[in-house]
Order: sequence, then C-alpha cells, then structure tokens
Amino acid sequence: MAKLDIITLPDRKLRMKSAPVERIDDDVRRFLDAMLETMYAAPGIGLAGVQVGTPRRMVTVDVAQREDENAEPNPLFLINPKVLWSSDERATGEEGCLSIPDYFAEVERPARVRVAYLDRDGKPQEIDANGILAVVIQHEIDHLNGKLFIDYLSKLKRDMVIKKFTKQQRLGPKPAVL
Ligand SMILES: [Zn+2]
Repeated sequence: MAKLDIITLPDRKLRMKSAPVERIDDDVRRFLDAMLETMYAAPGIGLAGVQVGTPRRMVTVDVAQREDENAEPNPLFLINPKVLWSSDERATGEEGCLSIPDYFAEVERPARVRVAYLDRDGKPQEIDANGILAVVIQHEIDHLNGKLFIDYLSKLKRDMVIKKFTKQQRLGPKPAVL
C-alpha cells in the first residue's frame, strides 16, 4: 500500500479529537499497515492516525531500533488505546514529532504507564511501558486528543514554534535546490 502524507503544523486537523474505531476489519488493517510503512519511511517511532489526516483512534509504534540499531522490527498497533494507570514518578526526555519537523524539546511525563488497547486482530491487550516506549505511547495518545508535545512547553516557546511553522507555510514550499 502506498505511503500516506503526514500533515504538519499549523494544520488545524492536528487539534481534532479522534473518534473511536468501531469495527476492526480488513480496511482498518490495511490502513494500519500503511501507517506503519509511512512511519518507518519518515523515519519515526510513533504515528497517530490524525497525523495522516484520519482522526480515528489508531496508533503505530516501533521503538525496537531506537533501543538497538540491529534489532528486528517489533511493530505495535494500538487501537482505541486508554491509559489505565500512570506512575507518580516522572521522567524527562527529549521529544520530537513528525508533524512538527526539526523541532525538539524536553518534556516531562509519568515515567511508566499501563495502557489497554485493541490489537490489529481486535483482541484486547494491556501493556506496561517504561522508558522510551512510555514516552511514545503517551505522545501518540495525546495526538488522539488533539494535544501536541509543544503544549507542555511555556506559552512563549510554544508560540514561537507555531509562528515559525505558520510563517513557513505562508512562504510556501522551499524552492528546489539546483
Ligand atoms: Zn507527534
């Protein structure tokens, strides 16, 4: 399946609340596979449906190669994910986002989370996540609620990022380098 287009700031769709997936059928599975391919190609370690313009509660994640360059791919498909528990302990890590290219910032979040979701076959699953996996899953679930990682920054920093991307859009795509 063809790769999908990733939308970026200041696209207002990124602020939409995604709708639950009612039925997991072949169309949903095909879409998840296309999301995964798009995520790998970007390259990224997490992608939410809304980032490819489809505000449904679907997420793909693969942190295997972030942890070990030679690791086999280990994709996770999370449908209708829900945080059941998050630790009081918090952790700070640098985050980026495929919808906010080339911008990175430190974000503090719960260090560990337990998340319920439906897998690619529609089977209920639970996962206990820590480290980078906990960060990615929380970042992607935020996307499903129209929230971006820059929302955790100071208003000043956030406004600067939004302004930069809005200006870039006004100027149009960068001219081709010949
Ligand atoms: Zn993101």
